[in-house]
Amino acid sequence: MHKGNLVYVLPGGKKYHYKDDDCSYSSSIMKGTKKAKQITEDEAKRRGLTLCKSCRKEYQEDLRERPFGLIRSIFKKF
Ligand SMILES: [Zn+2]
Repeated sequence: MHKGNLVYVLPGGKKYHYKDDDCSYSSSIMKGTKKAKQITEDEAKRRGLTLCKSCRKEYQEDLRERPFGLIRSIFKKF
């Protein structure tokens, strides 16, 4: 899940990552196996960094699933 405005950037990396354990980079950063800086997404974009492919994929799937999840939870009540 994409939460907040802070993203992870690996030292020397050209990509930034969301705090999302579906991404292997983010999950090792969160576990502490990889060291990364936390900056805002705006700052990452200003530095010319791009969103990591796997984070983008998860984020888009998340967006796509959200309205359906809502509908599903409404229908479950009946
Ligand atoms: Zn990522």
